[in-house]
Amino acid sequence: MVFSMDELPAGGFEDDSPQDCLKWALDRFGQRIGLASSFGLEDVVLIDMAMSMTNKLTVFTLDTGRLHQETYDLMDRIRNRYGIKIETLFPDAAEVENMVTNHGINLFYDSVEKRRLCCGVRKVKPLRRILSSLDAWVVGLRRNQNVTRTGVRKVSIDHANYGIVKISPLASWSEEQLHQYIADNKVPSNKLHSQGFPSIGCEPCTRPVESSADPRSGRWWWENSDTKECGLHPKS
Ligand code: SF4
Repeated sequence: MVFSMDELPAGGFEDDSPQDCLKWALDRFGQRIGLASSFGLEDVVLIDMAMSMTNKLTVFTLDTGRLHQETYDLMDRIRNRYGIKIETLFPDAAEVENMVTNHGINLFYDSVEKRRLCCGVRKVKPLRRILSSLDAWVVGLRRNQNVTRTGVRKVSIDHANYGIVKISPLASWSEEQLHQYIADNKVPSNKLHSQGFPSIGCEPCTRPVESSADPRSGRWWWENSDTKECGLHPKS
């Protein structure tokens, strides 16, 4: 279903709490909303908030086949803690085989184009598959994550993905607020965070950073910061 801005709340929850924004979204879209999780700090906070409101929400993740073992371990901890299924999307096997055969298993280090090819096959296409069946999705984007994210709105139309509604309840939160929420609510989180990984993606494309560094500087560290998006969240 395609939405227009007229159908969204005036003010877009910019002055409201993440919980208020999330509650509105869950009520408004019912079974037609999904929460995207790569099990970063933002994602586990959103799962915890959502599970205090409903047990019917679809939580989905993109298993690229290149994740850290610690991320797989966290998936199981989340499943057990909340008693939920996590809808797991894999890339198309034939596309991965073709890509790796032609460009090698570590093609992403060769060029931005090849890195985007890999993200496209392993992440973007599986994402579009599930989004085609939804009216809205919840994501953990925050404005101060990276220069590419300063314009994130809490509620927007996702023109890159079928015109569905994109909800970013944590857009205005800081990393400190995430840590505080996780500590206060004993939310399971990725063990890699305490090893210098503020932002965690695929294992070969993520490395630890100094505590004073840009939190996303460990992602695709060999690229310029203005190219550091995997295609899941293009500006629209
Ligand atoms: Fe491929 Fe790296 Fe993108 Fe993962 S983050 S899909 S390994 S390029």
